[in-house]
Amino acid sequence: MAAESVGDRLDETTCDRLRNRVTTVGDREALPVTAPYTNEVVGTVPRCRPADVDAAVDRARSAQSAWAARSVENRATVLERFADSVLANRERLLDVVQVETGKTRLDALAEVLDVVLTADYYAENGPEQLAGSRRGSRLPGLTRVETHHDPVGVAGFVEPWNYPLTLAISDFLPALLAGNTVVLKPAEETPFTALLAHELLVEAGVPEDVVQVVTGEGEPLGEPLVAGVDQITFTGSTETGRAIGSLAGEHLVDASLELGGKNPAIVLADADLDAAVRALVWGSYANAGQLCLSFERIYVEQSVYAEFRDRFVEATASRSLGATFDFGPNVGSLISEAQRSVVETHVKDARARGGTVLTGGKRREDVGPLFYEPTVLADLPAEATAATAETFGPVVTIEPVPDAAAGVRRANATDYGLHASVWTADRERGRSLARQIRAGSVSINDAFAGMWASTDAPMGGVADSGIGRRHGPEGISKFTETQTVTSQRGPPLVPIDAVPAGIIARGAILGIGAVRRLKRRLPPWL
Ligand code: NAD
Repeated sequence: MAAESVGDRLDETTCDRLRNRVTTVGDREALPVTAPYTNEVVGTVPRCRPADVDAAVDRARSAQSAWAARSVENRATVLERFADSVLANRERLLDVVQVETGKTRLDALAEVLDVVLTADYYAENGPEQLAGSRRGSRLPGLTRVETHHDPVGVAGFVEPWNYPLTLAISDFLPALLAGNTVVLKPAEETPFTALLAHELLVEAGVPEDVVQVVTGEGEPLGEPLVAGVDQITFTGSTETGRAIGSLAGEHLVDASLELGGKNPAIVLADADLDAAVRALVWGSYANAGQLCLSFERIYVEQSVYAEFRDRFVEATASRSLGATFDFGPNVGSLISEAQRSVVETHVKDARARGGTVLTGGKRREDVGPLFYEPTVLADLPAEATAATAETFGPVVTIEPVPDAAAGVRRANATDYGLHASVWTADRERGRSLARQIRAGSVSINDAFAGMWASTDAPMGGVADSGIGRRHGPEGISKFTETQTVTSQRGPPLVPIDAVPAGIIARGAILGIGAVRRLKRRLPPWL
């Protein structure tokens, strides 16, 4: 049992060593970090103050020009070495992630693999994505146009606890590759994961000051961070995202906001029910449902509803819970009492409003202090909290729908728009339905892993699920400023004083007409 071994997995000496990586400019109060498996304090980090954020930004800014002056190939090699090191040190990383989050080892492994995939993807593709290019002009032959992508400077990151490696580290890898330096504020629950990754980054060749880490609560640190950096990336709740977004507006800093979701799945009558049950059970309870992509609403075509429901409930009830550091259990702990309270409030409210708890719906303190059973709700009235608000826990609602169109309507009945899933034997039809769902990503006949691992494709939310994208070319271009350089092949494009304005105007109109006729026959770069 983990209860006996949390301290063996993250000991005091390691905590002391990692704590020194935090940027501070004075003695700071100690902020305890607890292990959800046992609720015991495993170590402390400094409760940073705004002055520490200012110092971190200054240090990152001083380090930026030397980092940007390296060739992009050199930075790509550093990222590859980091990926090697993450794989080589995976057992240490898995231990720290599990201690801080209480997730299963398999859920923790997904984080390790994600960092490797992302580092390799940007090391391979980033140099080309950052290369300048020739662009076309609407005035063929007169102007040569080229664009260049420069780093924004210092990029800031505020990250949540649910994926402390994937989000806190993978998110800034493209920023580093683009020549930026980084200031990271990890979640107060999970600082040691970020600090261990920082140690590995430095060993892989990232200069110490290039990535700065400040620890502590978001509220006092968010303002100076947004004010100091040149771009802010935030992943977390929609409520905090709005606060960060308005600070970014005030300071005219570009913001990428990856926020909450209430993700739907639609199961059609012709779907492979075995696969749908297996994938949606996994996709609803992975990371104990504390996953932005996990499903909280499943709409099933009426003719297969009863069969799907019974099989889904049976599979949910057979998920194993466990607080262990091996690959055994299916479902891990919730992160905190606050998170458990949200889950319990939603289930209590569902019951009070006439919803049915088909399985689960209770604490499992026999497994660990914060464990909660995977839960299936049905007959949920529209006004129930769990019908619309993100639970961010192991709770999913299932509901029959008369047909696919009704499934799409129900799926779209939300303020969020992060991810969705469609199940049908007819993939063509699935793709067409996907295009009717308002969400940043849709997986057909899969939960979300295939989408997430398609690192070349952007991922992010619409509506209350956020602004901006990670992954793909979009995931690196947000960390750059584009400069356009034009050079004239002939005289400058200015009116000639000796020619009357009326003649110039007529000439310009005739010229535009000629260009429009010619344009289709000329190469775009002219
Ligand atoms: P949260 O918003 O409470 O906290 C996230 C981070 O913001 C933490 O580091 C916190 O310290 C900081 N923070 C809190 N208040 C702040 C403030 N006023 N100013 C600046 N920083 C502040 O979110 P959470 O509860 O840690 O995470 C869960 C949420 O994250 C869920 O809604 C989930 O859907 C979302 N999430 C989204 C994605 C995505 O990619 N879209 C991924 C993971 C999680």
